Amino acid sequence: MIGICLLGATGSIGDSTLDVISRHTDHYRIIALTANSQTPKMVKLCQQFKPDYAVMASESAAETLQKQLKALSPSTQVLSGTAGLERVAALPSVDYVMAAIVGAAGLLPTLAAARAGKRVLLANKEALVMSGRLFMDEIQRSGAELLPIDSEHNAIFQSMPVDFSRGLAAAGVRRILLTASGGPFRTKTLDQLQSVTPEQAIAHPNWVMGRKISVDSASMMNKGLELIEACWLFDAKPSQIQIVVHPESMIHSMVEYVDGSVISQMGNPDMRIPIAHAMAWPERMDSGDQGMNIFEVAQLNFEKADEQRFPCLRLAREAIEAGGTSPAVLNAANEVAVEAFLENGLPFLAIPQVIEKTLEQSTHKRASSLDVILDEDREARVLAAQFVRQLG
Ligand code: NDP
Repeated sequence: MIGICLLGATGSIGDSTLDVISRHTDHYRIIALTANSQTPKMVKLCQQFKPDYAVMASESAAETLQKQLKALSPSTQVLSGTAGLERVAALPSVDYVMAAIVGAAGLLPTLAAARAGKRVLLANKEALVMSGRLFMDEIQRSGAELLPIDSEHNAIFQSMPVDFSRGLAAAGVRRILLTASGGPFRTKTLDQLQSVTPEQAIAHPNWVMGRKISVDSASMMNKGLELIEACWLFDAKPSQIQIVVHPESMIHSMVEYVDGSVISQMGNPDMRIPIAHAMAWPERMDSGDQGMNIFEVAQLNFEKADEQRFPCLRLAREAIEAGGTSPAVLNAANEVAVEAFLENGLPFLAIPQVIEKTLEQSTHKRASSLDVILDEDREARVLAAQFVRQLG
């Protein structure tokens, strides 16, 4: 039995992961489930999966969970806070850690899993965006396995030669084509984008996702974060990655080889597919997806990305090119701006403005340690909050 720690069990990726695991209970056992504040959902999940550990980010939520689990799942030990998250991610009984906490809150537990040499199933792209080199070094040092869950990166991983880690050029790869759905505002003009609402932003045409990533998808910051993520995962330069808008979301990304061959991975926009792939790798297993109906898809379209209407793409590229703590600053400012937008405290078009101003005001540093990264993250949040007040 493979022991699983599911960080972010109550979210959208959490739901898809539990759906996949429920189909293979003879192979996988849930050791730990974690959440932020959704106690009622955690009670239900603990009752169903009987984990050894359940972690809530806040102490009060953990206390409430503990009381309710006394009768329903007495064998589950309840922990709280970042220390609790880090502890369960590194438990000896855990083999695989699904990193599916949203945002910077996932960094420390995901790093703990990497340090402990687990198979890290990485959905929490913000963790890698923030800590880049440091994270990849931890993976190398501990001998952990890093498998991408983001559908695009999972597709790239599937389309890469097995020996891509010796370098893209040496492995015969010319470039990566990173696909993007274009989000719900793909066809909107700049003028129309001025008045879009959070409800419109979270209504994604192809994917069902959490609120933050849905807004990132609408602003195309999601693709910007994914560009940075791809640079680290595949040791690629930003110039080796071409963003391609593909509204049908059936091709999940492509790899172009030096001989001109392009290999892609296709499938329905269903996160259970990359999750099942990464859990079973190098084998394959049923994900629950019924397979794509290619005749219903009928057409595949491709467009260039528009950095005028979606400046987050440019900001992300500039941040990874600048290196150091810039991607962490970009990520922190984005998290603050997105939260303000979701609370109707910031217009949609001001999201990139907050990020750009924060990047301009931050002192660029070498990301030499976790402390430096976390300090920059904190400072960027203070700065971004000031710009939200000015522009909101
Ligand atoms: P959701 O918002 O649906 O879920 C987030 C999860 O993280 C919840 O379990 C939530 O708990 C938990 N959480 C939130 N804040 C904290 C915190 N401060 N401390 C501890 N736990 C916390 O997000 P998604 O599932 O959509 O996304 C998760 C990650 O996966 C993101 O990084 C996203 O970019 C990435 N991803 C998502 C995809 C998708 O299809 N959804 C696709 C590719 C990547 P609670 O419910 O209690 O708030």
